Amino acid sequence: MAKVYLIDVTNRDGVQTSRILLPKLSKTMLNIYLDQMGVYQSEIGFPTLRHEINYINGNLALAKAGVIKNIRLEGWCRAIPEDVILAFNNCPDLRDLNLSMSTSEIMIQGKFLGRKTWGEIVSTMTGAVRAAKELGARSVGVNAEDASRTDLSRLIDCALAAQEAGADRFRYCDTLGADDPITIYERIRALSLAANIAIELHCHNDLGMAEAVSCAGAQGAIECGVDAFINTTVNGYGERCGNCDLVSTILALKYSHGLSRKVKLDERVNLREAWKIAKYASYAFGLPIPIGQPGVGANAFAHESGIHADGALKDRRNYELYGPEDVGRGEPELTQTGRIITTGEYGGVKGFRHVYDKLGIHFINDAEARSIFELVQYANLHTQKPLTDDELRLIAENPDPVRKILTMTV
Ligand SMILES: [Zn+2]
Repeated sequence: MAKVYLIDVTNRDGVQTSRILLPKLSKTMLNIYLDQMGVYQSEIGFPTLRHEINYINGNLALAKAGVIKNIRLEGWCRAIPEDVILAFNNCPDLRDLNLSMSTSEIMIQGKFLGRKTWGEIVSTMTGAVRAAKELGARSVGVNAEDASRTDLSRLIDCALAAQEAGADRFRYCDTLGADDPITIYERIRALSLAANIAIELHCHNDLGMAEAVSCAGAQGAIECGVDAFINTTVNGYGERCGNCDLVSTILALKYSHGLSRKVKLDERVNLREAWKIAKYASYAFGLPIPIGQPGVGANAFAHESGIHADGALKDRRNYELYGPEDVGRGEPELTQTGRIITTGEYGGVKGFRHVYDKLGIHFINDAEARSIFELVQYANLHTQKPLTDDELRLIAENPDPVRKILTMTV
């Protein structure tokens, strides 16, 4: 039976968003948390962009060392052979790629100004897919940018050409967030029946329907026996009004009346990791989680009005669809209210040792302690925020990949 898998694109679509930023160490932590959450794939960034090269190679090294266990770390580039060759030159251990091309008439005319025909765009894309496979790609997704404004027959031709060239998935991008649930359901059904290739749903939130549209599209695919890969971002961060939110999507697939019966979600997905990853992304991006955010907002399990509070106290199921423990909430927050010693950019070695002693991490000798201490200073300089316990652990346990990740020049 066909299933829904999750491909998180926070580290690509989320970070390319205007006015919000994420340090490479934080991108790395997100890859680790997404892995722990059972997400199928993380679109980790841009292997053709110079300042991403060490970060990507460092993360691939963490995967090789078993720190990142199951998740696929995939790079994004344009669907042209030159980008694919450059991506593998920069990141030889990369095994998964998504290749992007514009498919709508409005974008082809508006962006290429008549310099490229549709036939040329498709043949360039198939050349890029073949190049990726020849260079050792395990999986290739072909992204149809602006698919929701692309003529359906053209989209089908494109998916068939991608499949014939060896692509493993076809990404339907609702780039402007213009689809509605019924429209995308019908279009994805038609696409899935015509081309037997796994479908990715990449939907934006300009009409406030990103999760609904993504889930409806996924339902259309799996009803036709085709696996669906929903693209999400943590807390919905993404271009303009954002992308399809990771936690809301899992909640919708698990708890809505229809989807929970009709759509099977990859069983490795662990919703109990939701709270940790949402809070970390909020901290790392420096953006608060909205009070009413599904599952992870401050008010997601708050009750005050007379009838609601009375009902929730008698039986929480009166007013809650799922419980705080289902999303990993309810653990006491370990916030230090008294004396605290931190370590970072301007710290000294005594404070550094104290912090690590409390984490239960001890160094074999002074030389090792000094080298990790220096890395901690650089990491804090890099993130410009107090380092979290998990970040401190990552640095101490994997100094070589972390040193690479913190180095911007190649
Ligand atoms: Zn996007």
